[in-house]
Amino acid sequence: MKLSIDFNQIKNFLLGLFFPIKCVGCQAENEILCANCIKKIGLSEQKIDGDIFAVFSYQDEIIKKAIWELKYHQKRYIGDKLGKLLYEYLIEEISDIKMDVSGRSIYVIPTPISNKKMRTRGYNQSLAIVKGFCSTEGKEVFEIKNKIINKKVDNIPQAKITNKKRRLENVRGVFEIKNKESVKGRTIIVVDDVTTTGGTLTGIMKILKKAGAKKVYGFAVAH
Ligand SMILES: [Zn+2]
Repeated sequence: MKLSIDFNQIKNFLLGLFFPIKCVGCQAENEILCANCIKKIGLSEQKIDGDIFAVFSYQDEIIKKAIWELKYHQKRYIGDKLGKLLYEYLIEEISDIKMDVSGRSIYVIPTPISNKKMRTRGYNQSLAIVKGFCSTEGKEVFEIKNKIINKKVDNIPQAKITNKKRRLENVRGVFEIKNKESVKGRTIIVVDDVTTTGGTLTGIMKILKKAGAKKVYGFAVAH
C-alpha cells in the first residue's frame, strides 16, 4: 500500500486552524464569500467589448476587497470561489461556446504574470480563478493550458494608464505564444481577474487568433 501525503491539504488544515476562513464581505466564518454578500455585489455590464465578458463591477467594495486579498494577501482560495462564480454567471455564454465546439475541449488560459511577480507572489491569481472556473466541468469540456502564453516583460500596470490607446500599446510585445501549433483551430477562453478596457485580454486574444485559434473569448471576474 502506498501512503500518499497531500502536503497542500495539510497546509490548508493548519492554516485553517490559525487563520479560519472568513467571508470577505461580512466576516461570517467558514465562508469565502457568503450567499448574502454575493447577492449584494454590483454586477458589471457583461459584454465589454466584442468577445470580452465580465461579471462584477470593480467599483463594488466586496469584489475589490476579494481581488485585493487574492492578489496581495496570499489568499489563493478566493480565486477558486471567484472562478466558480465566473462560471455560474456566464453559464449562458459557456453553453453557446460548448455547442459551437462540437465535442472538442475548450482551452482555458489564465492571463500570465511576469516571472518577477511570480517570485514575489508565489502564484498566478488568474490560474487560481481558472481552477475554480474549470472545476465544475470535466477535462473533455475544459482543458487548463497554463504554459501556452508567456509574459516576457513586466509592463506598467494597465490600471495606471487612463488612455485606451496607450493601454493597447502597453501590452504590445509583452506576451508571447510558446506553442503556436497547439492553438490551431481551437476555441479558447482567456481568463483575467480584472479587465479595464480589455487591453490585456485583447492583446492575448490577438496573438492567439494570429496563431490560428478558431475562436477566442476573454472572461474577467470584474470590470
Ligand atoms: Zn458575507
